[in-house]
Amino acid sequence: MPSPPEVERFISRLEGRVAPVEKTVREAWWSLATTGTQEAQGELVRAGKEYNRLFADRDEYEKIRGWYEERDSLDDPLLRRQIEVIYRMFSGRQGDGEILDRIEELEARANTIFGNHRGVVGGRKVGENEIREILRFSDDDALRREAWEASKTLGREVEGVVRELARLRNRLAREAGYPDHYHRSLDLQEIGTGELGGIMSHLESATDAPFKDLKEDTDGKLKERFGVEAVMPWHLSDPFFQSCKHDPIAPPRQASRGNSGGASGTGDGGLMSEQNSDATLASGVDVDRFFRDKDLKELTRKTYDSMGLEVRDVLAKSDLYEREGKSQHGFCLSVGREYPYDVRVLVNVRPDSYWMDTMLHEFGHAVYDKHINPRLPYFLRAVAHTCTTEAIALMMGSLVDDPTWLSAIAGVSEVELGEISEHLLLRERADRLVFIRWALVMFNFERELYADPEREDLNSLWWDLVERLQLVKRPPGRDEPDWAAKIHVAVAPVYYHNYVLGNLISAQLRGHLEAHVTHGPFYENEVAGRYLVEAFFGPGARETWRDTVLRATGEEINPDYFVNLLR
Ligand SMILES: [Zn+2]
Repeated sequence: MPSPPEVERFISRLEGRVAPVEKTVREAWWSLATTGTQEAQGELVRAGKEYNRLFADRDEYEKIRGWYEERDSLDDPLLRRQIEVIYRMFSGRQGDGEILDRIEELEARANTIFGNHRGVVGGRKVGENEIREILRFSDDDALRREAWEASKTLGREVEGVVRELARLRNRLAREAGYPDHYHRSLDLQEIGTGELGGIMSHLESATDAPFKDLKEDTDGKLKERFGVEAVMPWHLSDPFFQSCKHDPIAPPRQASRGNSGGASGTGDGGLMSEQNSDATLASGVDVDRFFRDKDLKELTRKTYDSMGLEVRDVLAKSDLYEREGKSQHGFCLSVGREYPYDVRVLVNVRPDSYWMDTMLHEFGHAVYDKHINPRLPYFLRAVAHTCTTEAIALMMGSLVDDPTWLSAIAGVSEVELGEISEHLLLRERADRLVFIRWALVMFNFERELYADPEREDLNSLWWDLVERLQLVKRPPGRDEPDWAAKIHVAVAPVYYHNYVLGNLISAQLRGHLEAHVTHGPFYENEVAGRYLVEAFFGPGARETWRDTVLRATGEEINPDYFVNLLR
């Protein structure tokens, strides 16, 4: 049986070793993301290796594993939980030192490729924002196709790195007695493969019929808009069809018009009256216009203010606007674990709905990070789980389509909203459906990838899944590593399910907040912030994600809250 004083001494020495290096790694990550320089990449690799070495000692690992196996004999729940967390930190970094270093290098290389890659459209290098805009707004079939293909050229560049990463990750997993990295990774994330598989197949069958209807309806409108016989991937507004916010998810009245209206874009009155390439025509409603003259930073502050959560400190440390060499994605980063916490957000804000969503999302992560109880022991001063922090981020990001939020916080007039409130709700439902089907592709693909990273038909495996689950046709004869163009496959492997669980928890949490805590929109009530700090953020990693969900919502994770939103 572990002796508590011995365990405590060990943990305290470990904290002394880990804290400074962890902070250096985070600083290096920030520096690479904000500058994209070679030096920054070198520093991240160096710090990352140093960090991994802190957990490499085999004797220490065996000692902790012994404690882990006998942890139930400890009376102190905090000590027990620290052993669980530390055991996983060690366990995730056991293995051949050369392999670990190589993985670190390859992930850094993949990050640099993703950060610096620019596709070519019309002979010009373009960034992701530009490709996204072409796919949203352009009516030029050839240009759309070129932009879509440009978004995928990255796949070839990074494919070799991704395959090698998968091989190396599998070697580590097998050394540790797992069938492959997929199984090891889920175990280290405290998620059962059977439990997750069950949730995923439940979601697949619950979304089969509504998704098919949605896709058929959308395809009909896209065919009309582009005058084509078959809808190809580049007719959709998102390169991976992971979102449909800018596709024509029509409210019923637009659907009936579309069917009777003949040629598209002819003056049809009302919502359809604006001509041609505007998003109004593309999606039935131009939601970007709500944000065109707005200060997204200000709206973010206002949203969190109204929940009683302070974000000015985070805003002041954040990197908000586009710049050459800067990472094109959005993320939130906590640097070190000393109070007051140093929490920062990186985004590339443009005044549109996508970036408003991203701002609210990343600041959702930020308010969680900054409200973790600073009196917790070092190793428990973290979020309970990736899926719990995603839940908050998703709950906040989805406000961009909430008519009440748009009017109360974003200052959109009732007159403007009246017409489209219903449409926004349909759009949000559609977007959830589309996201789940896309996440099922990622989930199934990665499971297969790790089962056999050597297989030669990964390109067609990817498209088989896309065709079956997303009902998107593969371009005839296409045999490209399109799967490798998704950054998660390279640097955030076996991670996507966290967004799915995040969505489920988000729906469950919002339901609970509004039914039992705020008795109205949660974002208009300071009680929501207090409740979240108390019941969700504050406890940090003191409890597992399951216990966090149970404490904050009064029941175990229950996918039905989310599924009900899809009806
Ligand atoms: Zn997130």
